[in-house]
Amino acid sequence: MKFQVPRGTRDILPGEVERWHWLEERTRVAMSLYGYREVRTPLFEATDLFVRSVGESTDIVRKELYTFQDRKGRSLTLRPEGTAPLVRAYLENPDLRTESPTRLYYMGPMFRYERPQAGRYRQFWQIGAELLGPAGPEADAEMIDLFRAVMFDVGLADVTVLVNSLGDAVCRPRYREAIRAYFKKHAEKLCGDCKERLETNPLRILDCKVPSCAPVIAGAPSVLDSLCPECAEHFEAVKRALTGLEIPYEVAPRLVRGLDYYTRTVFEIHAAGLGAQNAVGGGGRYDQLVKDFGGPDTPAIGFSIGMERLLLLVGDQAPPPAKPDVCVIALEPGSAVEAQALARALRGQVDDPEHRQALHVVVDVMGRSANAQMKWASKVGARWAVFVPMAAEGYGVRDMTAGKDEARQRSVEELRRWLIGRRGLVESPR
Ligand code: AMP
Repeated sequence: MKFQVPRGTRDILPGEVERWHWLEERTRVAMSLYGYREVRTPLFEATDLFVRSVGESTDIVRKELYTFQDRKGRSLTLRPEGTAPLVRAYLENPDLRTESPTRLYYMGPMFRYERPQAGRYRQFWQIGAELLGPAGPEADAEMIDLFRAVMFDVGLADVTVLVNSLGDAVCRPRYREAIRAYFKKHAEKLCGDCKERLETNPLRILDCKVPSCAPVIAGAPSVLDSLCPECAEHFEAVKRALTGLEIPYEVAPRLVRGLDYYTRTVFEIHAAGLGAQNAVGGGGRYDQLVKDFGGPDTPAIGFSIGMERLLLLVGDQAPPPAKPDVCVIALEPGSAVEAQALARALRGQVDDPEHRQALHVVVDVMGRSANAQMKWASKVGARWAVFVPMAAEGYGVRDMTAGKDEARQRSVEELRRWLIGRRGLVESPR
């Protein structure tokens, strides 16, 4: 074999892909019930878009971007996250701004050059929502509520919400200096990366997972003690709103998240079944980002959920792959095309939204003998075999599960109706 899937990526194959379809459908419904509409942005953007939003000193920008030059020498980057592209689209398309607030969501692959490990890929999928316009705590509460709704809709009720506030342009710089001074005093106990972060991004030290850093981090001053009165009141109001919505939460003063654009509220959702460090997803406010991109002053908040992690948690709740209802068997070598034509006629309505009137029909295209076609029909799990050419008394039908022949059907329409009726009977006990 000459080629392999690139490191850190994987193929999603039939058998698994049905679970993805199910997850996509469920999460889309949750988004739409809350009034969020999908935006599909390109998989790549100008590199600067991410450098200026995610932040120059973040791990994502320093080490993880897939950046390339196109033939005209432009620097482009495969998107490592969905918020910056959505904000770009929001500013570029006035139609998105006619209503306030703007509720948007996205779903698709993201790219980060990370060290591959369990649950961590270089191409992974996220579903995320963005709420642009509102500054008040109700927006923060809606976001966290929506995140939980997505989890609940895929059957995950055992979730923990962690919330924190990172302050704003007034109080965050003060905290950053306080924490820099604190970590400087303990610099010799920090890992190499954190020593670097002391200069570039001291807040990120709080997020370090290296065990030797843990005791130093445990003694660090809390961001919550240095919030300005406005940020403190916002955080209190968010907590009150969560209580009002009966959403249990834990305050996590060390929660900082890996992207620079966050202000005030940040949150993560953890679920039983993932390791302690593995959030299903998270998000936060980004009140400055729209303005930083040259737009009007527009506070905003969003989150993203890792779909691979969501699927790990969902386990076997997703439905098994569908099996064909019918396999059309060509009894004679010359009847292959007739078999194809009958298969097409039986499939029926593709515009029937619930496929109530449609049948899943497969037909041999390998030139197999009638016997071999029957073996193949059992192997693919077809419920019925239908035979061509039609005999004088009508189409022959065999129930493959029961192993018995059924009454003949005199026309294609009769056959269709009979199959759909019987399938209904078969499915109704579920
Ligand atoms: P972030 O955009 O870093 O806030 O990540 C949000 C969520 O996306 C995380 O909680 C993970 O569930 C998921 N995620 C982030 N990076 C990866 C990755 N490399 N592989 C798989 N999932 C990821």
